Order: sequence, then C-alpha cells, then structure tokens
Amino acid sequence: MAYARHNTGRGIAADHPSGTEQTGTAGAAPPAREAIAHGLRRSIRPSRWSLWSQPKQMIVFLLLWDLAACGILAFGVSTARTVTVLDWARLAALAGCATVHIQLTRKQEERRRNRVASVHIDLSGVWVVPAALLLPIQLTLLLILIVRGQRWVNSRRAPHKFLFTSFTHAVSALLAQRFFLAFGPASLDAVAPSEAFGASALLLAAGAIYAGVQAVAIGVLLALGGTPQRTVKNVLGNKTDNLLDIATVGVGIVATVLLVHLPPAIVILVLVGVIGNRLAEISQLQEDARTDSKTGLMNMRGWTDTARRSLDRASRNGTGAAVLMIDFDYFKWINDSYGHPAGDDVLRHIGSLLGEVTRPSDVVGRFGGEEFVVLLPNIDDAGVRTAAHRIAEEIRSARIKTTTKHGGETTVTDRTVSIGVALHPQHGETLDALLSAADAAVYEAKERGRDQIRFATAPGPAASI
Ligand code: GH3
Ligand code: MG
Ligand code: MG
Repeated sequence: MAYARHNTGRGIAADHPSGTEQTGTAGAAPPAREAIAHGLRRSIRPSRWSLWSQPKQMIVFLLLWDLAACGILAFGVSTARTVTVLDWARLAALAGCATVHIQLTRKQEERRRNRVASVHIDLSGVWVVPAALLLPIQLTLLLILIVRGQRWVNSRRAPHKFLFTSFTHAVSALLAQRFFLAFGPASLDAVAPSEAFGASALLLAAGAIYAGVQAVAIGVLLALGGTPQRTVKNVLGNKTDNLLDIATVGVGIVATVLLVHLPPAIVILVLVGVIGNRLAEISQLQEDARTDSKTGLMNMRGWTDTARRSLDRASRNGTGAAVLMIDFDYFKWINDSYGHPAGDDVLRHIGSLLGEVTRPSDVVGRFGGEEFVVLLPNIDDAGVRTAAHRIAEEIRSARIKTTTKHGGETTVTDRTVSIGVALHPQHGETLDALLSAADAAVYEAKERGRDQIRFATAPGPAASI
C-alpha cells in the first residue's frame, strides 16, 4: 500500500501518491450500492459537481493541473519502455497486496478520513512507490487505477477531488520514476556493494519526489480555497501526518527492494500496512482526545497537560508565567439573536483569532462554553498587561461573518470580553491555583460591568489593569 495525501473535510480532496487525500464531510455512509449509484450519477454529470461552488482560483488551478497531468502522463506513456513478463508479474504481486491491504483496512480508513479536518494520509504509497520505481509507467498507472478504483468505491468523494488526487498520484509517480531512471542504477538486481549507499540515497530521493510533489500540489489546492482555515497545519498536514507520509514512502522503498530480491516477502508488508493504518488511527484518536472539535483549540484535557509542562519549565527557570481566563460578554445574546450556528461561528473565529494574536509558546485552550484560557510562559506583569489588552482589542475589532436564523448573512461586531489574569507565582504556585485565581478575577470583571481586564489579587479582591 502507498501513502496518499488527501485534503479532508470541508474543502477539496486530493490523494498524494504516497497517499494523501482530502476527505469529505463526516457522517454515516449511505448503503453501499445506493451510494455508488449516487456517486456515479454525480460524476456522469460534471455540471452537478460541487467543484463549481469552490473559489475561482482553486477551480482554475485544479483544471490546469488536471490538464497538465494529462499531457505529462501522455508524454510519459509514449516514451516508456516496453512491458515485459516480469513487469506483469510484479504488477500482479503489488495489485494483490494493495487489494488485500485496502480491503482489510476499509472501514477503519473511512472512519479516520471522516474524522480528519485537513490533510489525510493514506498508505497506498507502500504499493505505488515500488510500481513507480520498477515498472514502466503504463503499468504504474494501471496499479494507481486499481488502488484508486477501490478507494472510490469505499469513500465516494466528490469526482473533481478524486480526479485531482488520482492525477497527482500519477504525476508524482512518473516524476519519481524518471528521476530514478536518470540517476539511479541501471538495475536494482545487481547493485555492487560499493554502490549500495548511492543506490539507497537515490531510492530515498525518488521517494521524496513522490511525496513532495503530492504535498505541494495538494497544499496549493488547499491554500487556494480547499480548506476554510489556511493554517500551515491544514495545508501541509501536522507532524504526525508528515511522519506517516515519510514512513509510507519508506516502507514503499523497502517493498521495492524486496520485490527485486525476495518477492514473496512483500506479503509481510501487507501486515505492516495494516498495523500502520491502526497506529495512524490510534494517533488520530489521541489527538482528538486533546482537541476541541468546534474551535480546533486544545480542550481542557490537552490544555492542562501542555500548560502544566510549560508552567513547570517557567517555574524551574524562574521566568514568570500567567494564566488568562477569557469570558465572552453576553454571548447568549448572539445565540438568541442569530441562532446557535452563528454562536458557533463566533466561537470558531475567536478560537483562530486567539491563535493568531498570541505567541507560539503561549498555550491556548477552550475552557468550555464561551470561555477560553491562555497560559503565557516567560512573561512579566507588563507583558501580560499588553497581551491581555491586545486580545481584548482584537476581539472588539473583529468582524465575524455569519448567518442569521433565516439563513441571511450578517456580521457580528463590537463584541467584548472580560479577562481575569493570574500571575505565577504571586497568585498561585500550581496551575489549578492560577486557574481559580483567574476565574475569580473574571467574576469580578463581570460584576464591575464587563469589558475589562482584572488581575487576581492574593489575598483580596481583583485589581483592574
Ligand atoms: P456573561 O456576560 O455574563 O458572560 O453572559 P453570557 O451570555 O456570555 O454568559 P452565560 O453563561 O449566561 O451564557 C453562556 C452562553 O454560551 C449560554 C450557552 O448556550 C452558550 N454556549 C456555550 N457553549 C456554546 C457553544 O458551543 N455554541 C453556542 N452556540 N453557544 C454556546
Ligand atoms: Mg461564561
Ligand atoms: Mg460569557
């Protein structure tokens, strides 16, 4: 199986040859036959593709890329070497292993894809990389077709996403192949010991091209509008996604060597692939357990964990730290006036705004409801004051586009927050103590009329800053 990169969720979807793709919206899958028929009906009529509702620059990029891919692949096929019996045997082995792998991980892969909010890495690259490195391009394309065909039946994403991802896999495979043909050893059958290091480095470089082309193409697509929040993480995937990508390509290279020197042993890699899928799901579940699904910020479990470590470090180094508790003023009014979906939009907006206006070392989380917490390490009184005022000002000047109860468009403006500040160590030694102190300060801010920042005092009432 190879990894593929896909753009998941609310944007566009695309698979990397290593196996990245964009997944569609989460939800219960319709019965298989009905869904396939529905998917077919949708794909047969391009006028009904959801592509046309995407941002214009994204549509242009997607169409140009697909067109360029057709040209590049046609050139590749027309200049490819002839197919031998050994090539067909290797294709059969790879297709067989890929099919077993895909079918054994079908449900789990779909669960994972539906949970992911940005880039999705699948493991189909484990099988596509050896095809790219060993087979002429016609057969590599055939393998991609076999892998992608099964993926389409399993996941039924929008046709334009599916085509884009498939073309991206194919182009990245062709480029990796041409690179290896140009610089690699004439044959992997008989690499002299003195050439082993060089050949290994070239295999790795070809794998990097395969994964890199996918990451760039899918990243550009997502950046142009396939994802609602254009963070680096959403466009290029997080650390775990990229480690998975590297691991997939790595196993693909091992599969290449095995296929040349010990073909039956590639069956072992089916097991490795299935376990890889399992580990990927576990890692995603771990991430989910620490993340607030609405805002994408850390939830209290994740925040407490990370904030405690950061506070310990600041405490050891004696560099000071602070906790901010931020409570939205009259949030209920937004829900009552525009409906809960509008309230959710505001929460999401505030979540991403907090990420933007804080330092990378600050730990931002959603405490619950319309309350947020931030731990600021390595900071003094004056620094906290500045940070708290910046946050309050940014929220006040935010213009948050959302919808009314009747589906009309509206912009929420001039909203305020009450912020409670607790300093370490003056207002508490532990994270719990700091949280309590900041919480008490928020209540004071509310009692005194809201839209203000209060420092905790220990002992005694909170003081305005
Ligand atoms: P105050 O200025 O005293 O803080 O008033 P408030 O309205 O902000 O606070 P209150 O505690 O009275 O109400 C909080 C509201 O936040 C009520 C609750 O329905 C809403 N809320 C909590 N979580 C969510 C959520 O995830 N989505 C939406 N839309 N609303 C939420
Ligand atoms: Mg509240
Ligand atoms: Mg509130």
